[in-house]
Amino acid sequence: MVQAPGLCRFILEPEEQDILQPTEKVSLGSRTTEIQLPNQIDLDTIHPDHLALCIMMITHPFVGKSLTFPKSVSKRFGDRHNQSASRYKIGPVDDSLRPWRPGKNARPGLAFSGGVDSTAALALMPANTAPIFMDRPLRKKSLYDKDAAFNSCQEVKRLGYDMHIVTCDLEYVRSPVGFPVDVANSVPAVLMAEHLNLDCIGFGTIMESTYGTGHRRYRDYPNGHHYTHWGGLFRAAGLPFILPVAGISEVGTSIICNEAPIGFVAQSCMRGTWKKPCLNCWKCFRKQLLDNAILDNQLDSAYLDDIFNNKEACRFLTRIPIKHENILTWSTHRLNSNHILFSLLKDRVEGTENDLTWLGKWYSPSIELIPEKYRSTICEKILQYLPEMDQSDESKLTSWSMLDLIDSPSTVQKSKLLVEKMNGSLKSR
Ligand SMILES: [Zn+2]
Repeated sequence: MVQAPGLCRFILEPEEQDILQPTEKVSLGSRTTEIQLPNQIDLDTIHPDHLALCIMMITHPFVGKSLTFPKSVSKRFGDRHNQSASRYKIGPVDDSLRPWRPGKNARPGLAFSGGVDSTAALALMPANTAPIFMDRPLRKKSLYDKDAAFNSCQEVKRLGYDMHIVTCDLEYVRSPVGFPVDVANSVPAVLMAEHLNLDCIGFGTIMESTYGTGHRRYRDYPNGHHYTHWGGLFRAAGLPFILPVAGISEVGTSIICNEAPIGFVAQSCMRGTWKKPCLNCWKCFRKQLLDNAILDNQLDSAYLDDIFNNKEACRFLTRIPIKHENILTWSTHRLNSNHILFSLLKDRVEGTENDLTWLGKWYSPSIELIPEKYRSTICEKILQYLPEMDQSDESKLTSWSMLDLIDSPSTVQKSKLLVEKMNGSLKSR
């Protein structure tokens, strides 16, 4: 680390056993990374466990047998990792270092992206939550447009939140550019935890990503590897996860953003500008169908022609299962049209259960993914927007499986038909 005001720089020094190319597609990119924290932050006051947690999020895929930090971590943090089944050990450990504890009147932080899911999370969290946006500096031509995200952040600030934008280039440590691990978008929040007096770190992780709905099959997230490993490390650093939308699907977060006062700031498209989604990407495709289904709009042919003229969506729709296929099933089930591509899609995503009403409800056992202190207020807020699942809904969730659909020859047939027709009708924009 170099001591310039607020500038936190990590220099990675690979060791012989490290894994510079963990998979065919992913390798170690940049060996330095910088996080520009507010310059009143004295970097020496950042707890060594917080530094270590951030270094782990940045380097995890590339570490072979051991990871050595610039400062010794507490025994609580070191033990949490070293007693797990991880392939590597961390250190050094200083038995006399006190683990980190939040101060009085601490509050939650949130890794905020400006998208629908993290905006819904913010809408459910206490008003003193500090949303923290990681601003990736753009290095070369990129489709990513920051305009929408910046406007979201500005609106959040205007609504009275203690909003922070932190420039951080950690996504370049991975080639291709992206988060080394999915929780790495919280690195600025963790580094600012002492400064902002945070006692937990929030993510807009939705039911599709936690419990696996829309993926191959249900996953017991609270007892699975991700929550045990990363959730455990965050807890050992004094900053447990707070996952307000973990029991809410993309249908639910969209409903919340349609209704909550802060909901208008959300924009899911990373390429359009403020309030002007590109209508040319996969997220836009899914969101158009979903929003119209939520609002109960019926769609005319010209509109559908436009929606389906989307090259990226065409690529995503060839997959089996399609990413977030459950959302397409839920949406197309609630929309009607004779439009040929729409009908083919509806036919393709039809399952044994098409109604999927439970996707618009809250899975309340997910309350265990929220620190006790915040449970009752968040529960109350969720129930303002969404009904709670009953036992039959819950068993539909916990028995979720797409394996039959994936293995069915008729799915392959329907997929081929849809993609051929869609490719055939693509026009240049
Ligand atoms: Zn878009």
